[in-house]
Amino acid sequence: MAFVTYSYSAPVSQSLFDRAAAVTPGGVNSPVRAFRSVGGTPRFMVSGSGPYLTDADGREYVDLVCSWGPMILGHAHPEVTDAVRRAVERGTSFGTPVEDEVALAEEIVRRIDPVEQVRLVSSGTEATMSAIRLARGFTGRSKVVKFAGCYHGHVDALLASAGSGVATLGLPDTPGVTGAQAGDTIVLPYNDLDAVREAFAAHPREIACVITEASPGNMGIVPPKDGFNQGLKDLCRADGALFVSDEVMTGFRASARGWYGIDGVTPDLMTFGKVMGGGFPAAAFGGRKDVMDHLAPAGPVYQAGTLSGNPIATAAGLAQLRLLAADDFAAHAVVDAAARQVRQLATEALAKEGVAHTVQTAGSMFSVFFGDFGDEGVTDYAAAKRQESFRFTAFFHSMLSQGIYLPPSGFEAWFVSAAHGEQAIERIAAALPAAARAAAEAVPA
Ligand code: PLP
Repeated sequence: MAFVTYSYSAPVSQSLFDRAAAVTPGGVNSPVRAFRSVGGTPRFMVSGSGPYLTDADGREYVDLVCSWGPMILGHAHPEVTDAVRRAVERGTSFGTPVEDEVALAEEIVRRIDPVEQVRLVSSGTEATMSAIRLARGFTGRSKVVKFAGCYHGHVDALLASAGSGVATLGLPDTPGVTGAQAGDTIVLPYNDLDAVREAFAAHPREIACVITEASPGNMGIVPPKDGFNQGLKDLCRADGALFVSDEVMTGFRASARGWYGIDGVTPDLMTFGKVMGGGFPAAAFGGRKDVMDHLAPAGPVYQAGTLSGNPIATAAGLAQLRLLAADDFAAHAVVDAAARQVRQLATEALAKEGVAHTVQTAGSMFSVFFGDFGDEGVTDYAAAKRQESFRFTAFFHSMLSQGIYLPPSGFEAWFVSAAHGEQAIERIAAALPAAARAAAEAVPA
């Protein structure tokens, strides 16, 4: 792939990336960080504060990635940092239950009505993998329905048509996942209830669960059509399958109660991660008590983790969730307002340059698709793949060169935080006109 060369460099990041490439595949520990879809040198960050990140070359950026979601209060929030410091001083891992685990579980159960019981794990991948195992164990069935463009972590059975990371890299079905592992996965087009109906008709009482991102963010933001999630729930109920809503990205972010707080559809199981870990590896799955009761040691479905419910991660997550809930969830209103402003500024700048695009939103989450998608917008993965990625690449690099750090792929959501105040938004506003011009002038590689 050919990339436009931009007249800015990051020599320290480049030398770190060279070192990394020698000892780590592709130089990164998670593929999308490598800038493969946009080209150029991935920035190695050394510190973050509020809405800002500073890279190894000493350049400051307004961060619109927020660690891919978790940093909803901004970087190094003093109260989260204090909670972490206090926890570290007490010891970092005991391999026993600790009170903060209980408090974090209570916090989730209190806020998200469909969750009667919850199990803490260390990553979103673990959460969805365990939810699927539990659904299979509970129903005694094997098949799982997922949707093209939805990403649920790198769970073997769920990697087919898995959105952003895989789309960014142009990998087809990933090698290493065997036919047996993927053979029970039925992949359907997103937002297509008829396809789900047909799958249930073709496999009566064989489907353990339907898993969906509550509102997908891994093919860019593609919200469910009205009635889609409820339709999934109803079809699952009619067949005796479980409805699993993946809120790893949307949970405690799309709204105070995640996407559940917006559409109110009651899943049987839900998964969480990102925001609930306060920037540490904490995630969870939970739901109906009669289903969760099947989990070891209460029931026969095995699931475990040396660092599950780790005291530092739970202290950070708890501090962040409590701060978000303070003053009647005031921080969420700030995040909503910041997201609205950035969305508006981006769309104004692009419209001014005559760049066809659509901005799609899901609560306080949003993303920009370059191209003309008509009145309907982007409703599934096939449409998301028609975006003009070459325009995103030019836009991305212009923003980066002006100190605005966007997700390095057009298939990702943009994230803001409650720390994105006036100054940060002014900097974004100042960078947008040139970036919109670069998008307008871009030509396919
Ligand atoms: N589910 C969704 C909806 C996600 O967006 C992600 C990660 O981006 C995951 C699951 C996997 O989470 P993790 O990266 O913590 O394993």
